[in-house]
Amino acid sequence: MIDLKSMDLAEMTGLLKGWGEPAFRARQVFRWLHRGARSFDEMTDLSKALRERLKETCALTPPTVDRKQVSELDGTVKYLWRLSDGNCVETVLMRYHHGNTVCISCQVGCRMGCRFCASTIGGKVRDLTSAEMLDQVLFTQLDSGLEISNIVLMGIGEPLDNFDTVMRFLELVNSPEGLHIGMRHISLSTCGLVEQIDKLAALRLQLTLSVSLHAPDDETRSQIMPVNKSVGVDKLFETCRRYFEITGRRISYEYAMIDGVNDADWQADLLAKRLKGTPGHVNLIPLNNVAESPLRPSRRVKEFQKRLEDQGVTVTVRRKLGSDIDASCGQLRRKRMEEAE
Ligand code: SAH
Repeated sequence: MIDLKSMDLAEMTGLLKGWGEPAFRARQVFRWLHRGARSFDEMTDLSKALRERLKETCALTPPTVDRKQVSELDGTVKYLWRLSDGNCVETVLMRYHHGNTVCISCQVGCRMGCRFCASTIGGKVRDLTSAEMLDQVLFTQLDSGLEISNIVLMGIGEPLDNFDTVMRFLELVNSPEGLHIGMRHISLSTCGLVEQIDKLAALRLQLTLSVSLHAPDDETRSQIMPVNKSVGVDKLFETCRRYFEITGRRISYEYAMIDGVNDADWQADLLAKRLKGTPGHVNLIPLNNVAESPLRPSRRVKEFQKRLEDQGVTVTVRRKLGSDIDASCGQLRRKRMEEAE
């Protein structure tokens, strides 16, 4: 079956042209898909014959809501979507004053192995398709009735480990015929795959790149993030510097504060030193407890923040949203898997 929804308008036009349809047909179909049509029968301005042909050749498999949790604290909504093959992924809808933001997943599971992260337990099952990423945005919007203005790729999975598919997803949500969400309203978070960061830089997209740093020294970073063993912090920062030079976009460094692991004064000092000459800012994240992990949240977030600021680093501390609903990614999927076992 053809994965029609992962196609861009040019590919769709090519396909339908091959079937003897005029060019504007593809635009009609594209618009239907990007408004969240659940079946080809809904596409009432297409001929019956074309709808039949689409049904016979193309898969249209919208996800269903397996679980939905709404935070009583801040209105954050977490969806556990069931995909057509039975796998589940999570999406989180956060309501900020600057707009509604959706945090989407890009893989079922993850193979990066970060020690503090729930998504990686059980490894990677498979990559998502561009359509499955798009569906998380579309159906969150439709289900909630809230218009989504920002997207963050910070859910389950490593976006740069599913590179081409994620790039296609970005092109789709950016399309004027679709959701038309600007690149400046999109953030992509990576654990630091340096070759792919260079590849991304070459595309010169105006999105915000977040790098999950979590430690400024190789010993600590390799201990909590296996990816560091082959890259190293020096090379990561070199790559980030290059990224900034090519794209002109500042990088946001994510730093989950872990008790007794990465929250010492000398680590703040080393981080400040490493950031000199690389425009970017640090986002401190209070660690979310993951049941399977012995790592605990740091009690030194404020001191660490101040120490960085005193050395001229721009620091924000991430607000905790949805802490009553397992909103940090991977946790709800884990829970569901345990129930099924
Ligand atoms: N694979 C990508 C994106 C997914 S994770 C990446 O590594 O960036 C999104 C962010 O949440 C990352 O910064 C990740 O390190 C962080 N994170 C994962 N588990 C966490 C936890 N238990 N507490 C706080 N942050 C966590």
